[in-house]
Order: sequence, then structure tokens, then C-alpha cells
Amino acid sequence: MTRHVPALVVGGGISGLVCAYSLQKASIEVQLVEASPRPGGVINSISRDGFLLELGPQSFSGTGALRQLCTELGIADQLLEAPPRAPRYVLVDGKLQAAPMSPPAFFMSSLINGATKWALLRDIFGKTIPPEEDESVAAFVRRKFSAQLLDRLVGPFVSGVYAGDPERLSIRSSFPQLHEAEKAAGSIVRGMMRLAKAKKGPRERPTLQTFREGNETLVRALAGKLGPSLRTGLRVTEVSCQNDSSFGVRFGGQGQEESVSVQSLIFATPTDVTGKMLAQLDSSFESLMSPIEYAAVAVVSLGYRKNDVGHSLEGFGFLVPRSAGLRVLGTVWNSSLFPGRAPEGHALLTSFVGGATDPAAVKLSQQELADLVHREISPLLSIKSDPVFSSVTIWPRALAQYNLGHSDRLCAISRRLANFRGIKLVGNYLRGPAIGSCVEQALAVAEEVSGTQR
Ligand SMILES: Cc1cc2nc3c(=O)[nH]c(=O)nc-3n(C[C@H](O)[C@H](O)[C@H](O)COP(=O)(O)OP(=O)(O)OC[C@H]3O[C@@H](n4cnc5c(N)ncnc54)[C@H](O)[C@@H]3O)c2cc1C
Repeated sequence: MTRHVPALVVGGGISGLVCAYSLQKASIEVQLVEASPRPGGVINSISRDGFLLELGPQSFSGTGALRQLCTELGIADQLLEAPPRAPRYVLVDGKLQAAPMSPPAFFMSSLINGATKWALLRDIFGKTIPPEEDESVAAFVRRKFSAQLLDRLVGPFVSGVYAGDPERLSIRSSFPQLHEAEKAAGSIVRGMMRLAKAKKGPRERPTLQTFREGNETLVRALAGKLGPSLRTGLRVTEVSCQNDSSFGVRFGGQGQEESVSVQSLIFATPTDVTGKMLAQLDSSFESLMSPIEYAAVAVVSLGYRKNDVGHSLEGFGFLVPRSAGLRVLGTVWNSSLFPGRAPEGHALLTSFVGGATDPAAVKLSQQELADLVHREISPLLSIKSDPVFSSVTIWPRALAQYNLGHSDRLCAISRRLANFRGIKLVGNYLRGPAIGSCVEQALAVAEEVSGTQR
């Protein structure tokens, strides 16, 4: 007889893990099925030769929900905060220059010309109306501010968050607060201030965080709480509708095959996988979900003897405007931000290559990628000798791209999904790619599902 499972979560990245944990906390019997042998998805921390490496995200922005989750899981005491004032650099005119981090610093900065500063004043005191149609991040910044701001600050920032192409990313989908601010107040600055005032609760000061033993601490703690409800090495392959409005789900791997009947089915898988599975219920899901692009990214961590690095490495790291002509998108100075990332006397630097503007980069071999990064960052940081350590991880589908038309596509998906009341979606293509956004969305969906199960 087919076993009945009240709630089944498919995919054990952070979105699926948090959703399943939250359902379990609400006393809903839940199972989580993850295809790979380990949970965590792109969150993966490993120790090698005395270096603590993050193969995916390097850190995360602390949010209220994340803090509360860590407290519940008993891992809040393992959180580490990056120095809040660590400067971030941008490569301009061949030199690493500090990026302005506050409005006064922006007006003082030599990175920004007078015309751009004047455009900011025009925004503060003037009024503009966003166009009806979806607008790219690049078009938005050029319309409101300047091509220079796009090249020197916004483009590199967009690389840092989405590994995306600002000419294709949609402003209303990828930075919804900016679009909403202009819509509500006719000004980005006034609108953002209004949104901040309207926010309830204490003001959050976003700080970059990780755990003493790496980001995977969060994954391990969630997996520990889920216990046998988390089942790894099992890939969901088939989904069908049953007469009683439940769903039949088939999964297997490692010589096991299993079919269950499910009341609430939550997909926490990337869009290509989710689209294919949902297409078994309604073929239009595949054509709606599979075209959502993902940027491919190579994460290259290099270890150096500190004495071989001329730069002080005081700060967060640097971002590279595309106009600089390098393939490195940016470099995080891990060992400057958090203790325990490199052995005594060594520095760990992690660079990102590829992204939506350079998809061919991830076709290079691991050695070529390590050599390329060493060659490009050495003159910027006055590095005098070869790395003593290297690690290269290639993510062919690293980050979902919230490109033009993304919000219409999500609306169309949600309209089709209304025909399948027990199915919900969570994941990094819906409400923002950051770990904090994935967590908040997973908690919200778990609450919705628990409401329907009571
Ligand atoms: C290189 C990189 C750097 C990043 N940097 C940051 C950062 O600095 N800060 C930050 O906040 N965020 C960062 N992010 C983004 C953030 O890490 C991700 O958006 C988030 O972790 C995604 O979680 P997820 O659970 O939605 O998806 P995923 O982690 O992709 O998890 C999906 C899971 O579904 C499983 N799966 C797939 N198919 C099946 C199937 N058929 N059956 C069962 N399971 C299946 C997969 O194995 C996987 O475990 C970064 C991401 C990358 C890749």
C-alpha cells in the first residue's frame, strides 16, 4: 500500500531545509527528499590543509529571521560578524579605491563625477515616474543617475549579488525596493526613507555573518533537527494528481524506489527540475519555468603566505567593473573578515569568475581558472609569489537571474499553480537569492502550509 505523507519537501538546500524544519516545528509530519548525498545545496563548507573554504556563498547578511532561527537551533553562539566598517574596494583606473558606504561619503567620493552627484540631488528634490514596462537595472540607473554610476558601482554590485548582467536584469524583480520607492515617492532617496520609516520593529543593521565552522553549520543544525525525516540520495522523478486532491510522488536512488501519497507538496528545487516535475501535471509549467536563466560561476579560493602579499588586505575585498577588462568579478578577503579561515601567517582570498556577462569562463579547466585568478589579482594586491593552496568549484547553475519579464513569468506560474492547491514553491528564484531571503520565504510558505493542514 502507498504510504501517506502529510507534507513532502523536495530539495534540501537552505530553502527546503528551513521549510521542512518549520513544518516539523508546527507538528506537521514532514519528509524532505534530497537528491545528493549531502543536504545544503550550494552551501558547502570544507576544511583542507588548514584552510576553511566556502565552496558556494562566502557569508550572509544577518536578518532578524535568521538570528531567531539560529537561536532556536542553538547555534547563535557560533555566529561570527565581519567588522561592520570593513571597507569595500572597486577597481577604478587600475587602482583599488574605497567604495562610498554612506550618502556623505558618496558626495565626497572621487569615484563619482559632478554630473552623477547632481543627478542624486535631482532625485532627492525632484520627481520622476517609472515607466510602465519592465525596465533593466542598466536603463534605470542611466535614466535616474548616470552611465558612470552604472559602470563603477552598480554594475559591480550587481555582479556581487546576482553575478548578473545589468542590461538584462529587471529592476522591479531584482531590486524591488528601488522600483517601489520611485513609484511611491517619485524619488529613490525619499521613497527608501519612507519605506524604512514604515517598517515595523527595531531597525535592522545588516551585518555580514558566518559561523565559526563555516556556513554549513546552519545546514548541519537543521539536518540534525530533521533527523530521519531528511532523506538524502533520493531523487524525485514522478508526480501525479490523485482523485482525492492529494499527489502521488515517486522517488528513488541507491537501489531504492518508493511511492508516496502527499497532501502538501513543496518544491524547493531549481526551476529546471521544478518545471519538469510540474509539467507532469500541466505541460505549461516547463515552458514557464525552464527559461529562467541561471548564471554559471566559478569560485576560486587561493591561499598565500601573508609575507608574499604586499597589500594590507584590510577590508572586505574588491569588485571589478566590467570596463576594467578583467575576468575576475570580485574577490573576498576571507581571512580578513573572519578568524580561522587560513593557517597562521597565511591569507585566504576567494574570487568569482564567470557570471551572466562571461558564461564561457566556466568552460576553462580548474588549473586555468586558478592561474587566471592568480594572474589578475597579483598586480592589484602586490602578490609576489605563487599561491600555496588553491581550490576551484564550478557551479553551472549558480544564481537565478531575475531578468526582464521575471515578475510576469512568476505571476503566470502562480496563476497555473492555483489549480493545484496542495503545491507550493520555495527557492532562490522567487523572492531574492540571498540566504536570508530564502529563509524568510521558506518560513512564510511553511506557515501557509501549516494553516491548510490544521
Ligand atoms: C557561488 C555562490 C555564491 C553565493 N554567495 C552568496 C552570499 O554571499 N550571500 C548570500 O546570502 N547568498 C549567496 N548565494 C546565494 C545562496 O547561497 C542561494 O541562493 C541559496 O543557498 C539557494 O538555496 P536553495 O535551497 O533555494 O537552492 P539550492 O541550494 O540550489 O538547493 C536545491 C536542492 O534541490 C536538490 N534537488 C535537485 N533536484 C532534485 C530532485 N529531483 N529531487 C530531490 N532533490 C533535488 C539539489 O540537490 C539541491 O540540494 C550564493 C550562491 C552561489 C552559488
